[in-house]
Amino acid sequence: MRCVSLIKIKNHLKMDNIDIKKNIETIKATLPERTRLIAVSKTKPVEMLQEAYDAGQRLFGENKAQEMRDKHEVLPGDIEWHLIGHLQTNKVKYIASFVRMIHSIDSLQLLQTVEKEAIKHDRTIDCLLQFHIASEETKFGLSLEEAIELLNSNEYKALSHIRICGVMGMATNTDDTTLVRSEFANLRHIFETLKRDYFADNDCFRELSMGMSHDYPIAVEEGATLVRVGSSIFGARFYGTAN
Ligand SMILES: *Cc1c(COP(=O)(O)O)cnc(C)c1O
Repeated sequence: MRCVSLIKIKNHLKMDNIDIKKNIETIKATLPERTRLIAVSKTKPVEMLQEAYDAGQRLFGENKAQEMRDKHEVLPGDIEWHLIGHLQTNKVKYIASFVRMIHSIDSLQLLQTVEKEAIKHDRTIDCLLQFHIASEETKFGLSLEEAIELLNSNEYKALSHIRICGVMGMATNTDDTTLVRSEFANLRHIFETLKRDYFADNDCFRELSMGMSHDYPIAVEEGATLVRVGSSIFGARFYGTAN
């Protein structure tokens, strides 16, 4: 517990010398019209999110369901909340009433749970399929073959309270921009394949969520419609070892 509060204090201290408004404006100035900015605010205190909100930012990304719920409760109601981190089925209930989009769908089982929770709240929840595009072993996500199997299944076809709106992926964490670019191009290829074969008549299927602080300019060049930027807006994150 002591470690957790120290991390909070450290994240608070960082607030003083970071110009959130300027960071958002600088990034937005580089984005084409088709690309929207998600401010990734995980681990950051609500005061910093409010500062971003006051600067006009409305899309926020969090990677933990409970943290997102807690922030949602105290921040303005017109924020669009995007869940971008790995989501366990037993955590969907915390966000189902308000989440705008879940970027991290990586199994039929998770999709079925989202459906169940969406029904409880009488709403439809927008989702992205997360793909494993990096050469690192550790990143979550589907392969194209797994996604096709999912989309062909009767279980998927029976779902009526979720909408698949596109795809999401994370490139390898490397300075090798050629590799990063090829991974984003691969995700765009996956997007185009699924669009052609499964969502040709579906206007909702249009999001390509890719690009973080260090690689979003490449992602934009490769067709991103949503970029997820954290540390370039809010500063570096501090994580405890006791987490
Ligand atoms: C944390 C996170 C980001 C943002 O990372 P930064 O490097 O701080 O911009 C983007 N996407 C996902 C899935 C994340 O977990």
